[in-house]
Amino acid sequence: VPELPDVDAACRLVAAHAGRLILDVCGPDASVLRNTSLEEMRDLLRGRRLSGASRHGKWLVVHVGDPSIVIHLGMTGQLRWEPATADRDRFERVTLATDEGQLRFADRRKLGGIWLAPDPGQVDTLLRGLGPDALSADCDELLGRLAARRGRLKSALLDQSLVAGLGNMLSDEILWRAHLHPARRASTLNTSEGRRLCRALRRALNAAVKKGQIPRTPSWLSGQRAATAPRCPRCGAALQWSRINGRSSLWCPACQPEPDSR
Ligand SMILES: [Zn+2]
Repeated sequence: VPELPDVDAACRLVAAHAGRLILDVCGPDASVLRNTSLEEMRDLLRGRRLSGASRHGKWLVVHVGDPSIVIHLGMTGQLRWEPATADRDRFERVTLATDEGQLRFADRRKLGGIWLAPDPGQVDTLLRGLGPDALSADCDELLGRLAARRGRLKSALLDQSLVAGLGNMLSDEILWRAHLHPARRASTLNTSEGRRLCRALRRALNAAVKKGQIPRTPSWLSGQRAATAPRCPRCGAALQWSRINGRSSLWCPACQPEPDSR
């Protein structure tokens, strides 16, 4: 499932093709278009040049001069840059054809989507419910937001209106690095726990963004997710899976003490 580092990689992919002239926008599956149609996109974008890309949380904004294409990858979305002659796979939904290659949006489950924003104000409207981007979020602001929360840490980190960009895997990774149990109440962190959380978030995110994805290497908790008997990369204890607010969470009983049940 794409999280901030994957979307950041997609953002860099698009940005690397800034300057390309848009020749056409085509299907075959316009059902991923959320507020527009192929005709409308074609009318607005044809003859303009890709001017760059930006990202907020898991949302990608492809700039085409003043208009923008806003993309969310959902659960299975991918962006690819392919030569016009490259074979298509059956999950490719929408293609932006340029004078030098094609930007293709593939999405098996179609939980992602594409929005058209004719001007920058529309982008703001589309993204206005999001909290600060996780990669650049200010630690004190983030801790202030957590302190005001009633729910558990794990659900707070997943809430895009609190902080934007984290998914299930990164949230588990960050909490494990910070020695914090996912079911802790968000409002109960003391100062040093808060600092630990911010540091873990920054380090995990920076490393994953550099890789273009969340590493599944042995020193990462994420590297244990597919194991049949996952072990803590730090202390070797058997990791546990728990459901927290409906999301499966991986954590270490030795490193992440369970909160009081009071
Ligand atoms: Zn451990």
